[in-house]
Amino acid sequence: MSFINKFGKTTVATSILAASVLGTTHVSFASGAGQGAQGQQGQDGDYMAIGNTKNPKNVIFMVGDGMGPSYNSAYRYYADNPNTKELDQTAFDKYLKGTNRTNPNDPKENVTDSAAGGTAFATGHKTYNGSISVDNDKKPLKSVLEYAKEQGKSTGLVTTAEVTDATPAVYAAHVDDRDKKDEIAQQFYNDKINGQHKVDVLLGGGSKYFGKENGHLTEKFQKDGYDYVTNKTDLANSKNDQVLGLFAEKNMPLQIDAPQQNPLLADMEDSALSKLEKNDKGFFLMVEGASIDKSGHPNDITGVMSEMSGFDKAFQNAIDYAKNHKDTLVVATADHSTGGLSIAKGKDYVWNPDAIHKMKHSGSYMTEQIAKGKDPETVINEGYGVDFPEKQLDKVKEAAKELKDVTDKAKDDKDPKIAEATTQLQDAIQKPINDASHTGWTTYGHTGEDVNTYAYGPGADKFRGNIDNTDSAKNIFDFFGQDVTSNQNQQ
Ligand SMILES: [Zn+2]
Repeated sequence: MSFINKFGKTTVATSILAASVLGTTHVSFASGAGQGAQGQQGQDGDYMAIGNTKNPKNVIFMVGDGMGPSYNSAYRYYADNPNTKELDQTAFDKYLKGTNRTNPNDPKENVTDSAAGGTAFATGHKTYNGSISVDNDKKPLKSVLEYAKEQGKSTGLVTTAEVTDATPAVYAAHVDDRDKKDEIAQQFYNDKINGQHKVDVLLGGGSKYFGKENGHLTEKFQKDGYDYVTNKTDLANSKNDQVLGLFAEKNMPLQIDAPQQNPLLADMEDSALSKLEKNDKGFFLMVEGASIDKSGHPNDITGVMSEMSGFDKAFQNAIDYAKNHKDTLVVATADHSTGGLSIAKGKDYVWNPDAIHKMKHSGSYMTEQIAKGKDPETVINEGYGVDFPEKQLDKVKEAAKELKDVTDKAKDDKDPKIAEATTQLQDAIQKPINDASHTGWTTYGHTGEDVNTYAYGPGADKFRGNIDNTDSAKNIFDFFGQDVTSNQNQQ
């Protein structure tokens, strides 16, 4: 279990790329244009867009946080129907358009975090790690969501993380540090465009940033006409066009561990679409599978597959929507990869998703239960679906005791020793499933490979080939009618 050297890595960028040259192309064709006339069947059996095939009126931009290419390939094995001879395609495969580069413009690091990555595809500008849509001089950068709002479109942000987390935040806030989550929540409420709140549908976790400690933001939103909901039933019953839905104090639980009353990502997406589509001028919706990354960091393969599955459902949902609404573009991509996920490890040419299918809870969930004081053996018995060696159980018990000792001695819960002991506990819990599935990992951080881009609908061909992460924003600005070079905010 010594294949990871947790603290042995220091990365200093030796050269930093200047901000990329800004493109000003204005021609964009619908998917399949040139192969057949509008309304005819294309090569892949889908019908071409009818109506305005140049510029989609609606954009659903989906982010699989941390969903590097190995995540998509691993998910193909995991989702495969064993009764068919061939390895089945995933919902994503059919819509692969190309890859995108993810490097940030950071003075010290050349592998991106979600803040710089998100800023790139939200605003069209590269920036430093930790930035929430401000440039290297801390000046605000306009996002595609803000531009959509200026145009009178409806807007939505849907995530399994806290809604103040980096990826949603970059669309509607401007702060110099992603950790300023109270300020991000304040900006969601206070910053307006043409007298209106920027985000009409805001769904995810993070209620702790909207309560009385941060100025009663939920009450303020409700006074301004928003529904405020905290569970699946209330979300389904919400009638207003504007809604704030906060389903957890922090991040939402993983799909495999979630209680029944929690909406899944596809449920939140459905609700968002039903509200946003009422606007004749169209909408911009960002949907984030955030916990793919949050499971990748602690090398939790069960959690990763749980969240890939949730993101896959939300993607299929979006594609179905776009097939019925021909002026809708769906794009799905990632901000970076996480953990150095490897499909097989050791000497065998084998990766075994069946073992993961047998698991009843994620490694993160079991770690949390034990950290809260629940008996380790009970937690493992309830969470594991594959053999858990006796010797390994002793290691889990030892790690649990160590975590308790460290926690008892710590001055506060931010003590780095707690994080270190938690990591050791989680590694001990996950070793048997990583071994049984032959899953390898190289880091607890992010990795810098290009990530896949999937797209369907009018404008999808603009995402072909190896593009830059900033090109996603440039394309969307272009579709909505603005040249990205003029997108610096005037604040
Ligand atoms: Zn991350």
